Amino acid sequence: MKIGVLALQGAVAEHIRSIEAAGGQGVAIKRTEELAELDGLIIPGGESTTIGKLMRKYGFIDAIRNFSAQGKPIFGTCAGLIVLADRIDGQEEAHLGLMDMTVARNAFGRQRESFETDLPVKGIEEPVRAVFIRAPLIKEVGSSVDVLSTYKDEIVTARQGHLLASSYHPELTDDYSLHAYFLKMAEEAAAAASR
Ligand code: GLN
Repeated sequence: MKIGVLALQGAVAEHIRSIEAAGGQGVAIKRTEELAELDGLIIPGGESTTIGKLMRKYGFIDAIRNFSAQGKPIFGTCAGLIVLADRIDGQEEAHLGLMDMTVARNAFGRQRESFETDLPVKGIEEPVRAVFIRAPLIKEVGSSVDVLSTYKDEIVTARQGHLLASSYHPELTDDYSLHAYFLKMAEEAAAAASR
C-alpha cells in the first residue's frame, strides 16, 4: 500500500518511517496531483492553523475532500485530527470538516503539555504507546463515529468509516500498531474499490 504523508508542516519523516516499519510504502506529499497515486493519506501533527492555511494556499482542501469522497482512507494525528474535524471548539471555521466530531485544541492543560502513556485501542491487541504534545481531545462525536479509545474519560482515538483520528502522536515511538491498523484500512478500501 502506498501511503502519503501531507508534507506542508509537521512530523512527516516519522510517519513515513512508521508506515514503512509496518510494511507499507510511505511518501511525502507536497502537491495535490500526487494524491492520485495513493491508497491512503496521513495528516501529521504540527500546528493546525498553519497546516490549514497552507492547505488552503496549495489547493489541498478540495483535493483531500475529493480523495475522501472516493472512499480512500485518511488518518489525522494531533493537529491532523483537528484538521479533519467538522467542528473546532471556540473557532468559527473548520478546515476539512470531514469527521462528524467537535474537537478542543490544547485540551490537556498547561502542566500536562506533554506526556506518554500506553493506551488500549479497540481493534488493536496490545496497548498503543501514545505521545501527547499540546494535544487536542474529541469533545463530542456523531452517531457514525466509533470511539476507539479514551484517556481519563476523554475521547482520544476515533474512526468514522475510512477516516481515523488520534489526539496523540503514534509516530514518535517504535510502536507501529496504529500504522498497521491504518494500512489494513487502506487494504480494505482498495479491495472494495476493485470489486
Ligand atoms: N496544539 C496543536 C494545534 O492546536 C496540535 C499539537 C500537535 O500536533 N502536537 O494545532
